[in-house]
Amino acid sequence: MTSQMRAMILAKPGQALQRRLVPAPECGPGEVLLQVRACGVCRTDLHILDGELPASKIPLIPGHEIVGTVLARGSRVERFAIGQRVGVPWLGSTCGHCPYCTSGRENLCEAARFTGYTRDGGYAQYAIADERFCLELPADYTDAEVAPLLCAGLIGYRALAAAGEARTIGIYGFGAAAHIVAQVARKQRKTIFAFTRPGDLQRQQFAKDLGAAWVGDSTQSAPENLDAALLFAPDGSLVPQALRQTGKGGTVVCAGIHMSDIPGFPYSILWGERVVRSVANLTRRDGEEFFALARQEKIQTTIEQFPLDAANEALERLRTGAIRGAAVLIP
Ligand SMILES: [Zn+2]
Ligand SMILES: [Zn+2]
Repeated sequence: MTSQMRAMILAKPGQALQRRLVPAPECGPGEVLLQVRACGVCRTDLHILDGELPASKIPLIPGHEIVGTVLARGSRVERFAIGQRVGVPWLGSTCGHCPYCTSGRENLCEAARFTGYTRDGGYAQYAIADERFCLELPADYTDAEVAPLLCAGLIGYRALAAAGEARTIGIYGFGAAAHIVAQVARKQRKTIFAFTRPGDLQRQQFAKDLGAAWVGDSTQSAPENLDAALLFAPDGSLVPQALRQTGKGGTVVCAGIHMSDIPGFPYSILWGERVVRSVANLTRRDGEEFFALARQEKIQTTIEQFPLDAANEALERLRTGAIRGAAVLIP
């Protein structure tokens, strides 16, 4: 086993990641050591890099959509065998005994640790993970194809679940999460209206290709009232915009971990039992349910691959909206 590895390190928020040779991690009793095969690049990584989320571990190896094969197992590991492919999502561990953990809401655990944020993630050749929070991955996806499902897919799935029985769904921000959730929603016979930044015709075409019934920009009105709106863009001004499109009893779901401030708005657009809510993190149950769906019927992820060393380039392309679908690093 090699004792050193290449990794992309966040040394200070606001700076580019640094390419470094660092000691390879060693697994504790309940952990697996993974050779990273692919790691997705998520909008949350940008919020961490930019210091929009409080820095809680520096230096940090970001990355929370890890696809890896098990190279070594801690003494207490039971679920996974050497050589097996596993997925590591954002939720890295929880306390297991707080009121949230014991009521099916481990995503809200105050003592949760997060992959690529409060513990090192997958922008590296190797990573370690708590085996209890690793996910089994469906076989008929390549490493790069399956990586975006581990956050974009899971958060999209949780956001869609928060929309309940909604039949017409507006999606704001048509990036990695939206391009996956649109496919899941279409399979559930829901009608999708996709809203992009004004003038982003490429992204509107992408949404159309994935089955959106209508595409337009966020200042336009969809042909019908929305039963729910899913907001994947980190722009707080979209909340009142989406509320104005949402019918009585409808829900506006904010799916990102960070958003710019929400401007004031008249109560009349919330009246009528409209709901504004967020979704935070994921539970292991979300992971099991979502990957069961992905196993039944293949989700087509559109990906742009980058070598590990090009992580900064991938992040910049994500920032400027140049990525179609999801960016994935291949160490
Ligand atoms: Zn807990
Ligand atoms: Zn993410």
